[in-house]
Amino acid sequence: MNSNHIDGKAVAARLREDVALTIASLSVTPTLAVVLVGDDPASQVYVGNKVKFSQAVGMNSVERRLPAETTEADVVETVRALNADPDVDGILVQLPLPAHIDSDRVIAEIDPDKDVDGLTEISAGRLSLGKPGLRPCTPTGCVILAKEALGDLSGKHCVIIGRSILVGKPAALLFLQQNCTVTVAHSRTDNLPVVCRGADILVSAVGRPNMVKGDWIKAGACVIDVGINRVADASRKSGSRLVGDVDFAEAEPVAGAITPVPGGVGPMTIACLLRNTVLAACARRDLPVPD
Ligand code: NDP
Repeated sequence: MNSNHIDGKAVAARLREDVALTIASLSVTPTLAVVLVGDDPASQVYVGNKVKFSQAVGMNSVERRLPAETTEADVVETVRALNADPDVDGILVQLPLPAHIDSDRVIAEIDPDKDVDGLTEISAGRLSLGKPGLRPCTPTGCVILAKEALGDLSGKHCVIIGRSILVGKPAALLFLQQNCTVTVAHSRTDNLPVVCRGADILVSAVGRPNMVKGDWIKAGACVIDVGINRVADASRKSGSRLVGDVDFAEAEPVAGAITPVPGGVGPMTIACLLRNTVLAACARRDLPVPD
Protein backbone atom coordinates (compact mmCIF):
# COMPACT_ATOMS: atom_id res chain seq x y z
CA MET A 1 0.00 0.00 0.00
CA ASN A 2 1.40 3.45 -0.97
CA SER A 3 2.15 5.93 1.78
CA ASN A 4 -0.68 8.24 0.73
CA HIS A 5 -3.34 5.51 0.94
CA ILE A 6 -5.75 5.80 3.88
CA ASP A 7 -6.09 2.24 5.14
CA GLY A 8 -9.79 2.03 6.03
CA LYS A 9 -9.45 -1.63 7.00
CA ALA A 10 -6.79 -0.83 9.60
CA VAL A 11 -8.64 2.24 10.95
CA ALA A 12 -11.87 0.23 11.19
CA ALA A 13 -10.06 -2.62 12.97
CA ARG A 14 -8.70 -0.11 15.50
CA LEU A 15 -12.15 1.37 16.02
CA ARG A 16 -13.59 -2.12 16.60
CA GLU A 17 -10.83 -2.79 19.14
CA ASP A 18 -11.73 0.43 20.96
CA VAL A 19 -15.39 -0.63 20.92
CA ALA A 20 -14.45 -4.06 22.32
CA LEU A 21 -12.38 -2.46 25.11
CA THR A 22 -15.23 -0.11 26.00
CA ILE A 23 -17.70 -3.01 26.10
CA ALA A 24 -15.36 -4.99 28.34
CA SER A 25 -15.32 -2.05 30.77
CA LEU A 26 -19.12 -1.62 30.87
CA SER A 27 -21.39 -3.13 33.47
CA VAL A 28 -23.86 -4.10 30.72
CA THR A 29 -23.51 -5.88 27.38
CA PRO A 30 -24.91 -3.73 24.55
CA THR A 31 -27.39 -5.43 22.23
CA LEU A 32 -27.79 -4.71 18.52
CA ALA A 33 -31.01 -5.84 16.82
CA VAL A 34 -31.06 -6.27 13.04
CA VAL A 35 -34.29 -6.58 11.06
CA LEU A 36 -34.04 -8.22 7.64
CA VAL A 37 -37.08 -8.61 5.40
CA GLY A 38 -36.85 -10.92 2.38
CA ASP A 39 -33.95 -12.78 0.81
CA ASP A 40 -32.00 -10.16 -1.16
CA PRO A 41 -28.52 -11.78 -1.39
CA ALA A 42 -26.54 -8.55 -0.82
CA SER A 43 -28.66 -7.70 2.24
CA GLN A 44 -28.11 -11.23 3.62
CA VAL A 45 -24.34 -10.69 3.35
CA TYR A 46 -24.51 -7.23 4.98
CA VAL A 47 -26.65 -8.51 7.86
CA GLY A 48 -24.40 -11.56 8.29
CA ASN A 49 -21.36 -9.25 8.58
CA LYS A 50 -23.09 -6.96 11.05
CA VAL A 51 -24.01 -9.89 13.27
CA LYS A 52 -20.51 -11.41 12.98
CA PHE A 53 -18.71 -8.16 13.86
CA SER A 54 -21.09 -7.28 16.69
CA GLN A 55 -20.46 -10.66 18.31
CA ALA A 56 -16.69 -10.31 17.73
CA VAL A 57 -16.59 -7.09 19.80
CA GLY A 58 -18.56 -8.72 22.61
CA MET A 59 -22.06 -7.44 21.88
CA ASN A 60 -25.27 -9.38 21.97
CA SER A 61 -27.01 -9.58 18.65
CA VAL A 62 -30.66 -10.15 17.93
CA GLU A 63 -31.85 -11.04 14.43
CA ARG A 64 -35.39 -10.68 13.16
CA ARG A 65 -35.53 -12.33 9.75
CA LEU A 66 -38.94 -11.92 8.13
CA PRO A 67 -40.15 -13.44 4.84
CA ALA A 68 -40.37 -11.21 1.74
CA GLU A 69 -44.18 -11.25 1.82
CA THR A 70 -44.34 -9.83 5.39
CA THR A 71 -46.79 -6.91 5.57
CA GLU A 72 -45.70 -3.38 6.43
CA ALA A 73 -47.83 -3.62 9.58
CA ASP A 74 -45.89 -6.69 10.71
CA VAL A 75 -42.52 -5.00 10.11
CA VAL A 76 -43.75 -1.97 12.08
CA GLU A 77 -44.88 -4.33 14.86
CA THR A 78 -41.44 -5.96 14.92
CA VAL A 79 -39.76 -2.55 15.28
CA ARG A 80 -42.20 -1.53 18.03
CA ALA A 81 -41.45 -4.72 19.97
CA LEU A 82 -37.70 -3.99 19.73
CA ASN A 83 -38.33 -0.40 20.88
CA ALA A 84 -40.16 -1.77 23.91
CA ASP A 85 -37.48 -4.36 24.74
CA PRO A 86 -35.30 -2.80 27.48
CA ASP A 87 -32.38 -5.10 26.61
CA VAL A 88 -32.13 -3.82 23.01
CA ASP A 89 -29.87 -0.77 22.60
CA GLY A 90 -29.66 -0.42 18.83
CA ILE A 91 -32.11 -1.20 16.02
CA LEU A 92 -31.11 -1.44 12.41
CA VAL A 93 -33.58 -2.13 9.62
CA GLN A 94 -31.65 -3.43 6.63
CA LEU A 95 -32.51 -1.47 3.47
CA PRO A 96 -33.83 -1.77 0.85
CA LEU A 97 -37.13 -3.22 2.07
CA PRO A 98 -39.35 -5.08 -0.42
CA ALA A 99 -41.22 -2.68 -2.72
CA HIS A 100 -44.62 -3.12 -1.01
CA ILE A 101 -43.23 -1.71 2.25
CA ASP A 102 -42.75 2.04 2.78
CA SER A 103 -39.22 2.35 4.23
CA ASP A 104 -39.86 5.87 5.54
CA ARG A 105 -42.86 4.62 7.49
CA VAL A 106 -40.81 1.80 9.06
CA ILE A 107 -37.76 3.98 9.83
CA ALA A 108 -40.05 6.55 11.47
CA GLU A 109 -41.05 3.89 14.00
CA ILE A 110 -37.51 3.37 15.33
CA ASP A 111 -36.95 4.86 18.77
CA PRO A 112 -34.44 7.70 18.01
CA ASP A 113 -32.40 6.70 21.06
CA LYS A 114 -31.91 3.25 19.45
CA ASP A 115 -31.50 4.59 15.89
CA VAL A 116 -27.92 3.36 15.33
CA ASP A 117 -28.12 4.06 11.58
CA GLY A 118 -28.98 7.69 12.36
CA LEU A 119 -31.78 7.70 9.79
CA THR A 120 -34.86 8.89 11.70
CA GLU A 121 -36.12 12.45 11.36
CA ILE A 122 -35.27 13.08 15.01
CA SER A 123 -31.67 11.91 14.50
CA ALA A 124 -31.39 14.11 11.39
CA GLY A 125 -32.81 17.05 13.37
CA ARG A 126 -30.39 16.50 16.24
CA LEU A 127 -27.48 16.40 13.77
CA SER A 128 -28.70 19.51 12.01
CA LEU A 129 -29.08 21.40 15.32
CA GLY A 130 -25.73 20.15 16.62
CA LYS A 131 -27.42 18.35 19.53
CA PRO A 132 -26.18 15.01 20.90
CA GLY A 133 -27.57 12.04 19.00
CA LEU A 134 -26.73 9.07 16.82
CA ARG A 135 -25.04 10.03 13.54
CA PRO A 136 -25.25 8.12 10.22
CA CYS A 137 -22.44 5.57 9.98
CA THR A 138 -20.90 6.05 6.53
CA PRO A 139 -20.49 9.86 6.81
CA THR A 140 -19.07 9.42 10.33
CA GLY A 141 -16.55 7.01 8.82
CA CYS A 142 -15.59 9.65 6.23
CA VAL A 143 -14.83 12.20 8.95
CA ILE A 144 -12.75 9.70 10.93
CA LEU A 145 -10.71 8.83 7.81
CA ALA A 146 -10.15 12.51 6.94
CA LYS A 147 -8.95 13.14 10.52
CA GLU A 148 -6.68 10.11 10.25
CA ALA A 149 -4.99 11.75 7.25
CA LEU A 150 -5.06 15.42 8.28
CA GLY A 151 -5.55 15.61 12.03
CA ASP A 152 -7.50 18.78 12.83
CA LEU A 153 -9.91 19.59 9.99
CA SER A 154 -10.67 23.11 11.16
CA GLY A 155 -10.63 25.69 8.36
CA LYS A 156 -10.25 23.13 5.57
CA HIS A 157 -12.42 23.49 2.49
CA CYS A 158 -14.42 20.28 2.17
CA VAL A 159 -16.27 19.64 -1.10
CA ILE A 160 -18.83 16.85 -0.97
CA ILE A 161 -20.20 15.50 -4.25
CA GLY A 162 -23.67 14.07 -3.53
CA ARG A 163 -26.56 15.28 -1.39
CA SER A 164 -28.35 12.06 -0.45
CA ILE A 165 -30.03 11.66 2.90
CA LEU A 166 -27.86 8.61 3.61
CA VAL A 167 -24.43 10.07 2.81
CA GLY A 168 -24.01 13.52 1.22
CA LYS A 169 -26.23 15.70 3.45
CA PRO A 170 -25.18 14.25 6.81
CA ALA A 171 -21.53 14.29 5.65
CA ALA A 172 -21.89 18.03 4.97
CA LEU A 173 -23.21 18.64 8.49
CA LEU A 174 -20.54 16.44 10.10
CA PHE A 175 -17.69 18.21 8.29
CA LEU A 176 -19.28 21.55 9.24
CA GLN A 177 -19.20 20.38 12.85
CA GLN A 178 -15.45 19.87 12.39
CA ASN A 179 -15.24 23.57 11.44
CA CYS A 180 -14.65 22.87 7.77
CA THR A 181 -15.90 25.27 5.11
CA VAL A 182 -18.31 22.99 3.27
CA THR A 183 -19.49 23.02 -0.34
CA VAL A 184 -22.11 20.47 -1.42
CA ALA A 185 -22.07 19.62 -5.13
CA HIS A 186 -24.63 17.48 -7.00
CA SER A 187 -25.91 16.61 -10.45
CA ARG A 188 -26.91 20.22 -11.20
CA THR A 189 -23.62 21.78 -10.08
CA ASP A 190 -21.98 23.93 -12.77
CA ASN A 191 -18.27 23.47 -13.43
CA LEU A 192 -17.91 20.50 -11.10
CA PRO A 193 -14.19 19.98 -11.86
CA VAL A 194 -13.47 23.62 -10.92
CA VAL A 195 -15.50 23.28 -7.69
CA CYS A 196 -13.60 20.10 -6.81
CA ARG A 197 -10.21 21.70 -7.49
CA GLY A 198 -10.92 24.09 -4.60
CA ALA A 199 -11.16 21.22 -2.10
CA ASP A 200 -8.66 20.44 0.63
CA ILE A 201 -10.92 17.45 1.37
CA LEU A 202 -12.91 15.96 -1.52
CA VAL A 203 -15.63 13.47 -0.59
CA SER A 204 -17.36 11.72 -3.48
CA ALA A 205 -20.69 9.96 -2.81
CA VAL A 206 -22.25 9.63 -6.25
CA GLY A 207 -22.22 6.06 -7.56
CA ARG A 208 -20.57 6.70 -10.96
CA PRO A 209 -17.40 4.70 -11.65
CA ASN A 210 -14.20 6.72 -12.19
CA MET A 211 -16.09 10.02 -12.56
CA VAL A 212 -13.63 12.15 -10.55
CA LYS A 213 -10.52 12.66 -12.68
CA GLY A 214 -6.97 13.43 -11.60
CA ASP A 215 -7.17 17.04 -12.83
CA TRP A 216 -10.24 17.66 -10.59
CA ILE A 217 -7.99 17.30 -7.55
CA LYS A 218 -5.87 19.98 -5.92
CA ALA A 219 -2.29 18.78 -5.38
CA GLY A 220 -2.01 17.31 -1.89
CA ALA A 221 -5.78 17.14 -1.23
CA CYS A 222 -7.36 14.42 0.88
CA VAL A 223 -9.72 12.32 -1.25
CA ILE A 224 -12.44 10.22 0.40
CA ASP A 225 -14.19 7.94 -2.09
CA VAL A 226 -17.55 6.65 -0.82
CA GLY A 227 -18.72 5.25 -4.18
CA ILE A 228 -19.06 1.51 -4.65
CA ASN A 229 -19.48 0.59 -8.29
CA ARG A 230 -19.19 -2.78 -9.98
CA VAL A 231 -17.50 -2.68 -13.40
CA ALA A 232 -16.73 -5.43 -15.92
CA ASP A 233 -13.21 -6.88 -15.68
CA ALA A 234 -12.42 -9.81 -17.94
CA SER A 235 -9.17 -10.48 -16.04
CA ARG A 236 -11.14 -11.47 -12.91
CA LYS A 237 -12.66 -14.90 -12.41
CA SER A 238 -15.93 -13.23 -11.42
CA GLY A 239 -15.82 -11.06 -14.58
CA SER A 240 -16.13 -7.85 -12.54
CA ARG A 241 -14.54 -5.77 -9.79
CA LEU A 242 -15.45 -2.91 -7.46
CA VAL A 243 -14.27 0.64 -8.11
CA GLY A 244 -15.08 3.96 -6.50
CA ASP A 245 -16.26 7.26 -7.99
CA VAL A 246 -12.65 8.45 -8.24
CA ASP A 247 -10.36 7.46 -11.09
CA PHE A 248 -7.82 6.02 -8.67
CA ALA A 249 -4.92 5.65 -11.15
CA GLU A 250 -5.18 9.35 -12.07
CA ALA A 251 -5.97 10.68 -8.59
CA GLU A 252 -3.42 8.74 -6.55
CA PRO A 253 -0.31 10.63 -7.77
CA VAL A 254 -2.00 14.02 -7.19
CA ALA A 255 -3.69 13.43 -3.82
CA GLY A 256 -1.92 13.87 -0.50
CA ALA A 257 -4.11 11.08 0.90
CA ILE A 258 -6.71 8.87 -0.76
CA THR A 259 -9.03 6.03 0.23
CA PRO A 260 -8.92 2.93 -1.96
CA VAL A 261 -12.07 1.08 -3.04
CA PRO A 262 -12.48 -1.51 -1.65
CA GLY A 263 -10.72 -1.11 1.70
CA GLY A 264 -11.40 2.59 2.37
CA VAL A 265 -14.76 3.91 3.54
CA GLY A 266 -16.56 0.53 3.29
CA PRO A 267 -15.06 -1.13 6.40
CA MET A 268 -15.73 2.03 8.44
CA THR A 269 -19.49 1.77 8.10
CA ILE A 270 -19.89 -1.37 10.24
CA ALA A 271 -17.26 -0.17 12.74
CA CYS A 272 -19.23 3.08 13.20
CA LEU A 273 -22.45 1.08 13.58
CA LEU A 274 -20.87 -0.88 16.46
CA ARG A 275 -19.64 2.36 18.01
CA ASN A 276 -23.13 3.87 17.73
CA THR A 277 -24.58 0.83 19.51
CA VAL A 278 -22.19 1.37 22.42
CA LEU A 279 -23.01 5.10 22.48
CA ALA A 280 -26.73 4.26 22.51
CA ALA A 281 -26.28 1.69 25.28
CA CYS A 282 -24.43 4.22 27.46
CA ALA A 283 -26.78 7.13 26.75
CA ARG A 284 -29.89 5.01 27.43
CA ARG A 285 -28.51 3.75 30.75
CA ASP A 286 -27.06 7.07 31.91
CA LEU A 287 -23.54 5.66 31.80
CA PRO A 288 -20.68 8.00 30.85
CA VAL A 289 -20.63 8.13 27.04
CA PRO A 290 -17.16 7.22 25.67
CA ASP A 291 -15.38 9.70 23.28
P1 NDP B 1 -27.73 8.44 -4.18
O1 NDP B 1 -27.98 7.88 -5.55
O2 NDP B 1 -28.82 8.52 -3.20
O3 NDP B 1 -27.10 9.91 -4.36
C1 NDP B 1 -26.18 10.20 -5.35
C2 NDP B 1 -25.86 11.67 -5.34
O4 NDP B 1 -24.93 11.91 -6.39
C3 NDP B 1 -27.06 12.58 -5.60
O5 NDP B 1 -27.08 13.65 -4.70
C4 NDP B 1 -26.86 13.06 -7.03
O6 NDP B 1 -27.28 14.40 -7.28
C5 NDP B 1 -25.34 13.03 -7.16
N1 NDP B 1 -24.95 12.87 -8.57
C6 NDP B 1 -25.43 11.97 -9.45
N2 NDP B 1 -24.82 12.13 -10.64
C7 NDP B 1 -23.96 13.17 -10.49
C8 NDP B 1 -23.07 13.83 -11.37
N3 NDP B 1 -22.92 13.47 -12.65
N4 NDP B 1 -22.35 14.86 -10.89
C9 NDP B 1 -22.48 15.25 -9.61
N5 NDP B 1 -23.30 14.65 -8.72
C10 NDP B 1 -24.05 13.63 -9.17
O7 NDP B 1 -26.51 7.58 -3.64
P2 NDP B 1 -25.96 7.36 -2.12
O8 NDP B 1 -25.61 8.67 -1.52
O9 NDP B 1 -26.85 6.44 -1.38
O10 NDP B 1 -24.63 6.54 -2.44
C11 NDP B 1 -23.59 7.11 -3.21
C12 NDP B 1 -22.52 6.06 -3.47
O11 NDP B 1 -21.98 5.66 -2.24
C13 NDP B 1 -23.03 4.77 -4.13
O12 NDP B 1 -22.01 4.28 -4.98
C14 NDP B 1 -23.22 3.82 -2.96
O13 NDP B 1 -23.08 2.47 -3.35
C15 NDP B 1 -22.07 4.25 -2.08
N6 NDP B 1 -22.28 3.94 -0.65
C16 NDP B 1 -21.23 3.38 0.01
C17 NDP B 1 -21.34 3.09 1.34
C18 NDP B 1 -20.16 2.51 2.05
O14 NDP B 1 -20.32 1.91 3.11
N7 NDP B 1 -18.94 2.70 1.53
C19 NDP B 1 -22.59 3.32 2.10
C20 NDP B 1 -23.59 4.02 1.33
C21 NDP B 1 -23.44 4.30 -0.01
P3 NDP B 1 -28.83 14.85 -7.28
O15 NDP B 1 -29.22 14.94 -5.83
O16 NDP B 1 -28.81 16.14 -7.97
O17 NDP B 1 -29.56 13.77 -8.02
